[in-house]
Amino acid sequence: MKKSNKLSSAIKAGLLASCMLAPQAFSMEKAVANQVQPNIVLFLVDDLGWSDTSLQFARERVPSNDFFRTPNIENMAKTGVKFTQSYAAAVCSPTRTSIMTGQNTARHKVTNWIMLAEGDHSGTWGPNAAPADWRLEGIQPQDVTLPKQLQMNGYHTVHIGKAHFGALNTEGADPLKMGFDVNVAGHAAGAPASYYGEENFGNDMPVIDGYPQGVPGLSEYHGKDVHLTDVLTWRAEEEIDKAAATGKPFFINMSYYAVHTPIEAHPRFIGNYENRPYKGTNIDIPLVEERYASLVEGTDDSIGNILEHLKEKGLAENTLVIFTSDNGGLSAHTRETTPRGTERNTHNYPLRSGKGSAYEGGSRVPYVASWAKIDSTSKLQQELPIKPNSTSKQPLMIEDLFPTILSVAKATAKLPEDYIVDGIDATKYWVNSELKESREMVTHYPHVWGPFGPGYEPHSTLILDGWKVIYFYNSNTWELYNIDKDIGESFNLAAKEPSILNKLALKLKNNLNEKGAQWPVNRMTGKEEPLRTPSL
Ligand code: CA
Repeated sequence: MKKSNKLSSAIKAGLLASCMLAPQAFSMEKAVANQVQPNIVLFLVDDLGWSDTSLQFARERVPSNDFFRTPNIENMAKTGVKFTQSYAAAVCSPTRTSIMTGQNTARHKVTNWIMLAEGDHSGTWGPNAAPADWRLEGIQPQDVTLPKQLQMNGYHTVHIGKAHFGALNTEGADPLKMGFDVNVAGHAAGAPASYYGEENFGNDMPVIDGYPQGVPGLSEYHGKDVHLTDVLTWRAEEEIDKAAATGKPFFINMSYYAVHTPIEAHPRFIGNYENRPYKGTNIDIPLVEERYASLVEGTDDSIGNILEHLKEKGLAENTLVIFTSDNGGLSAHTRETTPRGTERNTHNYPLRSGKGSAYEGGSRVPYVASWAKIDSTSKLQQELPIKPNSTSKQPLMIEDLFPTILSVAKATAKLPEDYIVDGIDATKYWVNSELKESREMVTHYPHVWGPFGPGYEPHSTLILDGWKVIYFYNSNTWELYNIDKDIGESFNLAAKEPSILNKLALKLKNNLNEKGAQWPVNRMTGKEEPLRTPSL
């Protein structure tokens, strides 16, 4: 706290001096040079798969890398560190809650996507229903949140885009009640009814399933020929300018609605994909895939514009940026033929399946951390020297962002004494990409997501030292994969390696019990169906 007060007064003094003596640019430069806590921008893309960028995350380049165009994300990796094994939850709200709380899904209990505080949208097929008392209201103002902690540590906090961490008509739906000083376009819903200003971002469209998905708060753009991603970019740039003027370090939660459904073209980029076959093939790019790629490129363009804005304003040297996604790429429905000529559930190749699944395609996500502009004279960069163009194989979890961002912020304000953070501070891996440490990582999704297909059923997983076990609650079955050697999860080794299976299954059970995990409920008996280890 002392540090932030000192920073604040130093900047205020600088601004005061500028009013009396010199142009503001001079004082801003001085303030930037003296800054002791970095600005932080989190670029959280929605539903962007591990293979949905031109930046390669797999061991070998895949056709998707040559289809998608994301030069700005590539540039971020050139100035920073890329992580090839980072995980989110399999769907939106559990991930967003883990970022906000630092806790694993099994502990925070927002285990599925949220919308109505008294309406469960979990799928209705199969023997098991959702846990009876999972937090379908989402998180609420009494919860510890990342932006609240940042505020306590002197930060100005800004939410832009999709929130989706508190249910409709609850206080938690409003980012302003959850620790953000500013909210642009965030509310309960997890998708925009429309990406188009000409359609008022869906605000006049019929409400489907009892919940409105019109994007709130952008009425000045209604009726205009603009795309939502661009509008959020312009608003982000305005909010960066306002944040800099507060004299505080800032946190921008740049949480794109893209590339979630509805998969609607970004007009400035659709021309790069229309009326042509996939590169090196005679497969015509399906319309929905043209549109999807344009949404991806539009998001990349936004990231590039915001980085450029930070540079123009002299803020980039002291701004730390992180890019990641909130779950694997959608592949179970809506999507069509891939650049490899394959069909649904293969869009995340070389990973198996997609968003909502127990397999790697459901939760493995891209992740890059970098300074917005490399400057060896920046004291903040000297303290956190991220090696340009480095790659780390350290496994990371989405809940790591909470302690990592608080570490970057040099947070000294304490969390409540009994508060448990499951995530770890990943900055040591940012600065030392050679460092790889053993780590037990758990995901817990005790819900039917909806569609049928590979891994889209209630499950829990544990990853440790290159191995992964999956438990499927509906069938009471276990699968075991060596994901270091078999990233596509093609060879189930459960029968062949019983000792490894038993060891990891017990670890998963103990880990979930320690977190107080909730179990699916049998639709016939109304009783919980806890995870059963294979030896029982
Ligand atoms: Ca999502």
